[in-house]
Amino acid sequence: MNLCNDCFLRLFSRRVDKIVKRYMPKQGIWVALSGGKDSMALLHYLWEREYEVTAYHINLGIGDYSNRMEKMIRDYTTNLGIELVITNLRKEYGFSIGDIRKKPCSACGTVKRYLMNKVPRENGAQILATGHNMDDFLEFFTKNMLGKNYSWNRKLVPYLPAEHPKLLPKIRPFYLVGDREIEIYARIKNIVYSEEKCPLAKFSGWKEIFYEIEKKKKDFRYQMIRSVWDMSSFFPEERVKLRECKICGEPTSRDICAFCTLREKYTKDDQKF
Ligand code: SF4
Ligand code: ZN
Repeated sequence: MNLCNDCFLRLFSRRVDKIVKRYMPKQGIWVALSGGKDSMALLHYLWEREYEVTAYHINLGIGDYSNRMEKMIRDYTTNLGIELVITNLRKEYGFSIGDIRKKPCSACGTVKRYLMNKVPRENGAQILATGHNMDDFLEFFTKNMLGKNYSWNRKLVPYLPAEHPKLLPKIRPFYLVGDREIEIYARIKNIVYSEEKCPLAKFSGWKEIFYEIEKKKKDFRYQMIRSVWDMSSFFPEERVKLRECKICGEPTSRDICAFCTLREKYTKDDQKF
């Protein structure tokens, strides 16, 4: 669509507010920040609308990349006057994602899911907001369908209520806007973010495919994500009984949670818990 800046901002806000106004509390919001455009734009969006937000960042220990992200986030949140909490994985838990050679992204996902729930909850958060966007969810959906992981599609919704007293509800305000829209929004609003990709990231190509389709089928992505949302409750439910990890007490489906298992494996002997 060819829109002037004002019309673009109105359309962008209308789509984001569909989620924010419906599910977001005014206080106790923690925003997970990676340093990329999505999370930095989300923080700015909520800050501009005077939501009471705390920024949360995990230094994953991926070489200098992680230190550059941390510095940029520190500077940006200081400029906006937003409280920032940082967890340094290496210093606080004795291992880092940079240490992990086999499937680092899978370990990274475990670390993020665990800390982004535990740290905000212990500090009084009511909800965790992440910058996942429409194109991320379309990619997850496509991969879940191809891998026959149908039940995972139940979670591809803009708001996930807590399934356990120790789990925070999660909100994805950018569920109805994608990479390109957020890039334009960030440019118009002069939002500081890093274009540097994590050195461990792999190229998937799915998003480029969605944009190719959209060249021929106008509004393809938006219509698809509305269908993904509508369909989510039709997918089979995973029957997982959550209990508390025998080591850390956090919710898990196993005796020892995935985070404690990672920590045990990668922490050097003299730093073990
Ligand atoms: Fe973590 Fe980097 Fe993999 Fe993303 S690409 S999941 S930040 S290791
Ligand atoms: Zn544990």
